[in-house]
Order: sequence, then C-alpha cells, then structure tokens
Amino acid sequence: MDSGRRTTIRTAGDLAREGLAADPAIEAVAARYAIAVTPHVLDLIDRADPADPLARQYVPDARELTTMPEERADPIGDDTHSPVKGIVHRYPDRALLKPAHACAVYCRFCFRREMVGPGGEALDAAELACALDYIRATPTIREVILTGGDPLVLSARRLGDLVRDIAAIEHVDWIRLHTRIPVADPARVTDELVGALKADKAVWVAVHVNHANEMSADARAACAKLVDAGIPLVGQTVLLKGVNDDAATLDTLFRTLVKNRIKPYYLHHGDLAPGTAHFRTTIAQGQTLMRELRATLSGLAQPVYVLDIPGGAGKVPVGPNYLADEGTVEDPRGRRHSYSSN
Ligand SMILES: *Cc1c(COP(=O)(O)O)cnc(C)c1O
Repeated sequence: MDSGRRTTIRTAGDLAREGLAADPAIEAVAARYAIAVTPHVLDLIDRADPADPLARQYVPDARELTTMPEERADPIGDDTHSPVKGIVHRYPDRALLKPAHACAVYCRFCFRREMVGPGGEALDAAELACALDYIRATPTIREVILTGGDPLVLSARRLGDLVRDIAAIEHVDWIRLHTRIPVADPARVTDELVGALKADKAVWVAVHVNHANEMSADARAACAKLVDAGIPLVGQTVLLKGVNDDAATLDTLFRTLVKNRIKPYYLHHGDLAPGTAHFRTTIAQGQTLMRELRATLSGLAQPVYVLDIPGGAGKVPVGPNYLADEGTVEDPRGRRHSYSSN
C-alpha cells in the first residue's frame, strides 16, 4: 500500500519542508487547529498551482487566525442537542453518534474544528455503552448517523462491533456513516473494513467530496468497493470560495460523483466556523450557481443546497425558489411562465 511509505503531515514544519506553507503565521494556526494531510492527498496537490483546490482545503492559511464576530465554536448547535456524550439528537427520527474525534485529514473549513483533532478523545467503552443505551431507550430514533471525527478511522474490528450493536436495535431501520476516508486515505478501505459495514440493516455511506480532483483512481476504487458491497453512496459537498464556487467546477464534480455511483446529496452553505470567512460565499452566490446547474445538469447529479441554521435549529434548503409571483413560475433560464395550480 502506497500510503504506508510516508506518514501524514501534522506540523507547520512538515508543511514548510514540503514547500506548501512557508508563512510563519502557520505556526500560530497549528497551535489552534489540528493539521493533517495524508500522503495520498499530498500526491494529488499540484505544487505549481497557487490555487490548487486540495491545498486550499487542507493546508492552513494565516486567515484562519481571524475570527469574525458572527462565527462561533459550535456553529450548528451540536452541544445544545446532546443528551449524552457522543450523541447529538436534534431531529426525532435520527441521531448522530460520534464514536471518534480524529480524522485522517483536517479540513480547514470544518464546522467541528474546535471539537476534533488528534488530542480529542474517542468515546471510551463506558461512554459508548451509555450512548448506545440512549439509542436503545429512544424508540423514535429510526436512523443512527456515525460521524465525528471520521468513523472510518476506527479499526475494522471496533467499527464492525459498533455497526452490529446498532443494527441489533429493533427500532433502528438503517445506519449512515459520514466520512472523508475514501478520498483522503483510500488505502484504509480494505476488504476487512468494508466487511465491518455488513449488517442486517441497510448501511449508507455519505462521502465528503468538494472537488473532482479528489476522485483519484484510488479514491474511485475505494468508492467502487463500497458500492459493490451493496452500500449506497451519497456525496456531500461544502460550497467553498476558491475551491468549487463556480458552475463548471461543480458540474464536473457532480458528474464525476454520479459516474462513480455516488448520488450528490447536499451542497452545504459554509457554516460559521471560526476562522473560515475566507471560504464563505453569500447565499445569493450559491443560489446563482444552483440556477446555472439546474439549466444544464442532470437531475440525478443535483444536490440540495442547504444551510444549517446557526444555533441548532436544523438544516433547510435555501433555494433558489422558482415560484415567482402568484401564478408565475420561473424556468432555469429566468423566463417567467404563468401557472395556475387550482
Ligand atoms: C445534519 C444532521 C443530521 C442529518 O440531517 P439529514 O438532513 O438527514 O442529512 C442529523 N442530525 C444532526 C444533529 C445533524 O446536524
């Protein structure tokens, strides 16, 4: 396995040695937010391109030191909906379970950037048992979503035990995992790991991908392995200034996902995570992009553009809205048509 040859980059010094971030301010960023760039991702970065979309996502930037007044440590209110450690239960029918606090890579725009990192502790056995007890005791929970941290950093054995324990809960209909591993460290997607996801209940995987350059041959193979094992894949993308905030880039990304049997699910508007203002577009810009895609891109390749309302009120689609004035609907090119519905 290739990624065994070198280790993950975790310090400002390592980045400088790789010629990726020479700015002395990066030390200060590193002191505040975790850094990790896997050898796989490192190989995909074009050093000659100052705007490389992978470097932008993973290589720290001095602008992260600027926290805007509207930014917050817990942008979508995880803490206000956490009945027991490791669980976030905001909607009646589904709950997040965060078994791990580490990731293979640390995205510079992460909305949990204050909570994840190599120092963050995974749930210990007693805490995990408590979290599972909460799910068992709460019959409204029909879906358990493993997120974190990245649940695929767990060993195949621990992941398999966890998936089987959740699948054994009668009122849980399906399990979902959110992960960056297939594109960040595809060598981890071994037969053993895929086998750990086999359960009596349906298991779905949401892969976080923000640019088509992330879909390397190894990443495509890792995704194929999951789909071939009967695990449906959906794609989750964050709209990021300077990475994917133009229609051509998003068109290529969403087409690449569908070609690889990944259904684009959400395009997230950037959360108000601290030090991420340089990544955020306006919602109007996001709506303009969605309009352009609506005019030219297969419906199968269209995600829903969503905002996670700051504070924990939930995710909502933020348009655009094609119903104009009363009795009028707008087509994807902006022409108005009359329509009467009753
Ligand atoms: C995002 C999120 C979910 C999942 O929402 P879906 O719209 O089903 O993808 C569930 N719970 C919490 C707390 C979330 O933040």
